[in-house]
Formats: sequence, C-alpha cells, structure tokens
Amino acid sequence: MPYPTPRPPAPNGPGHCPRCLRPVIWCVTSHQNTQAVDRDRNEDGNQAVRQDHTGRWLVRQLTRERPTPEAGENLHMPHVATCPVPAPRRAPAPRVPRGRLGVRPIRRWGR
Ligand SMILES: [Zn+2]
Repeated sequence: MPYPTPRPPAPNGPGHCPRCLRPVIWCVTSHQNTQAVDRDRNEDGNQAVRQDHTGRWLVRQLTRERPTPEAGENLHMPHVATCPVPAPRRAPAPRVPRGRLGVRPIRRWGR
C-alpha cells in the first residue's frame, strides 16, 4: 500500500465512554479537539453543546464573555468530571534509589 492506513476519524455524536461505558456525546472543541460530555443535559454543566448544520456536535466552555447557553446550545457536564474510571495518570518519575550510587566531585569555587 503506497500510503499508510489513515487513522480512523475521531468519534463525533452520541457514543459511550471507552472506560466506564456510560453514554456520552463526543464533541469537537473550538481547538478541534475531541471532548466527551455526559449524554444527559445538565443545567449545572459548564459545557455548551450544539450541533452545526452538518450534524457535527460542537462544544464550547462557558466563558465570562459568553456565560450562558445561546441559541441551539444545551448545557452538559464534561465527562471527565463524572467518569468513575478516570484516565490513567502519567507514570510517576522513577524514584531515586536510596543509598549512594556514586560520588559527584564538588568543586569549590574561589579556593
Ligand atoms: Zn467514563
């Protein structure tokens, strides 16, 4: 094959969280990132979700300038805030073993 297999498109629209399998809606942020919000509308949410004219689900976070949902938007909770199986954290930095492994010479300046 002359070209590498393209990555599958990011999910968009109603789906399920791959970790907890709860119903979510995959949305596109203003930065073209994919974000999952809880499927159910939630007046306490801070994510304004709407569908554009092509049927794509878009999300924007409420801001000080635009603090309320606008035409066609509904409030949802970001799923990361409610997911009971949070994303794995990055592996912690390896610990320095106890005990001295080597001696680093110290050069005292000005002597
Ligand atoms: Zn989840």
